[in-house]
Amino acid sequence: MHRFKKIGIIASLVATMTFSMVACSSNNLEEGNETIDTAEASNEASQETSTAKYIFMFIGDGMSYPQVNGAQIYNGTVDNEDSVELTRLGFTEFPVTGSASTQDSTSFAPDSASTATSIASGVKTHSGVIGLEADKTTEVITIAEQLKEKGYKVGIVSTVTLNHATPAAFYANVESRNSYYDIALQMADSDFDYFAGGELGQPTGKDKDQRDIYEILEEKGYTVTRDKDEILSLDNESGKVYAINPELVGGAMEYSIDMDEDSLKLSDLVSTGINVLDNEEGFFMMVESGKVDWAGHANDAMSNIQDVVAFDEAISEAVKFYNEHPDETLIIVTGDHETGGMTLGQATTGYDTAFDLLSN
Ligand SMILES: [Zn+2]
Repeated sequence: MHRFKKIGIIASLVATMTFSMVACSSNNLEEGNETIDTAEASNEASQETSTAKYIFMFIGDGMSYPQVNGAQIYNGTVDNEDSVELTRLGFTEFPVTGSASTQDSTSFAPDSASTATSIASGVKTHSGVIGLEADKTTEVITIAEQLKEKGYKVGIVSTVTLNHATPAAFYANVESRNSYYDIALQMADSDFDYFAGGELGQPTGKDKDQRDIYEILEEKGYTVTRDKDEILSLDNESGKVYAINPELVGGAMEYSIDMDEDSLKLSDLVSTGINVLDNEEGFFMMVESGKVDWAGHANDAMSNIQDVVAFDEAISEAVKFYNEHPDETLIIVTGDHETGGMTLGQATTGYDTAFDLLSN
């Protein structure tokens, strides 16, 4: 919380990778903060600190070091046949890098609900809980809500459903991540300015006996659109919008590997988000790549890698914006937890990484 409250432009850009299953005591969070404070302090010496006006928070769901490195090694293998090289993803070259341990209040293998609550609000809670402290009662106030209160516009983007755990942790407070309809109702009440990506899970409730959530969103002043051309023409005079990707599978965007040339990509939703949110008071945009996690669960290396690459392309839209507003922009890239126990080479295959076989 403290860290977000005095948002400073640390060294213009910040990349934070998380790793899970770290053998450590609960003091580690403190240590993690100290690391960040040290970095901040050392930068303060050489650079004036000010409040960031434009803030991007990118979360690769289920993305930790192996997923990032897997994508870099794959690209390196494709780019440099016959030699062992990696091609860096853009966000790995940001000037500030840190690590965080990701255990939640009850598990060393946490889920997206508790980790996103920590990222959005600075508190650790139970796996499965969104926006409540470990007592499952006290509601947290998220960074997105605090900035909205200060006059920033707020955007929430995800490749998966918008009432799924990670995006929900920025606007909802529920004891169970499975309370999709309640979460969607809280989304409609958030007054946030831009939602984009997948659709909503259980739009008429678990038993399909509730009022259609899209009707409620429109009643609350949201323009809900599933039209690609309309989405791409949105701007900061469009009012509150919910831009749903017209090409969905089970409510979520397709894996990047399955998209066509003219599919609406995560990078398009970031550039559109900038157009919608851009205003003199500033903005906060959270962008989740949710299917890195799904590909991890499915042990699907190539879909995992290609979604990390697409995530990097989406981040580069923020970097373009940064280049136009370098003194006022903060970009944070992080994961929330590892998924799938992804490993690069192992004993039964003689530690051969065989990345060249993936494109077959
Ligand atoms: Zn997750």
